[in-house]
Amino acid sequence: MPSLLSVRHPLASPTEQLRTLARTGAPAFDAVLESRGVAPLETRAIEVLQVNVGKLCNQTCGHCHVDAGPDRRESMTHETAEQVVELLTRHPIPTLDITGGAPELSPEFRFLVEAGRRLGRRVIDRCNLTVLLLPSQDGLVPFLAEHRVDIVASLPSFRASGTDTQRGEGVFAKSVAALRRLNDAGYGTGRGLVVDLVHNPVGAFLPGTQASLERDYRRELRDRHGVVFDRLLTIANMPISRFLEFLERTANTGRYMDLLLRTFNPAAAAGVMCRTHLSVGWDGALYDCDFNQMLELPVDPGGPATLRALLERGGLSRRVRTDRHCLGCTAGAGSSCGGALE
Ligand code: SF4
Ligand code: SF4
Repeated sequence: MPSLLSVRHPLASPTEQLRTLARTGAPAFDAVLESRGVAPLETRAIEVLQVNVGKLCNQTCGHCHVDAGPDRRESMTHETAEQVVELLTRHPIPTLDITGGAPELSPEFRFLVEAGRRLGRRVIDRCNLTVLLLPSQDGLVPFLAEHRVDIVASLPSFRASGTDTQRGEGVFAKSVAALRRLNDAGYGTGRGLVVDLVHNPVGAFLPGTQASLERDYRRELRDRHGVVFDRLLTIANMPISRFLEFLERTANTGRYMDLLLRTFNPAAAAGVMCRTHLSVGWDGALYDCDFNQMLELPVDPGGPATLRALLERGGLSRRVRTDRHCLGCTAGAGSSCGGALE
């Protein structure tokens, strides 16, 4: 499957994605907050610096909110990576969360990991698992283990059919092989090397209960495949980019937005990740989250818009920019990069 951008699909345009969501008649997200008595989203202290190093990926998954793939060329420069490190040096943000694309394919990945760990920060690698098997990534698993990097890895289903439907033929088998390599290096085995898995629904519905899905994943992966992991995180599919294209193709956009609206959860709204995250794009632009980044909705115009401006002027607190896609974070048990919010 090629990226939307490479086939010039109209939904490669963030403006067209936002227009498509508006056409469903779903109310503006801030209006939903107001009608449910929830205050507009403001940031608290920043706990996570999430850095998207680029859109290159060895996969082209059907639900990808980045529209990543082997044909994407956007990639962070060393100068921008140095600015990330400078920001971490000046601000005691506890966690550096590195994402992509497949972040490991960025020439800056190992530089950022080493710098983050040297500064004593928790470093997270958002890993698609199959990248660990690429011949070009020989030595990556020992590198991650040596630097005690936490791995958060997507595995939509513990069944081959579910995972392969969403992520491509043969991806489940490769993901299990990669998990086995991680287990052999000590990940997921209770020795302090953490590998969490991420479940998202294979279709236009919300995830099941995180705790019960975790039990199912644990049993099936251990008994059928002999692999183990730490925690399962459940996330909802965001109605943007390639998942939005799927919704449109299957005439499900209106129904999905209605589901997100009907299941709006004020408690989840209070805990959305944008309140404690700052998201950095491959080019150094700042966003409230990775979803806003892909929709090209930069941070509130009153504050610094780039890493360089932030380093010069300071100012980490801001009002969060929202749009209708935000309903994907507040439905049901809530959804964030850290899994369910309740
Ligand atoms: S979902 Fe992840 S692994 Fe799949 S194409 Fe997107 S960035 Fe790559
Ligand atoms: S999509 Fe981003 S800005 Fe909107 S609620 Fe979710 S984390 Fe916050």
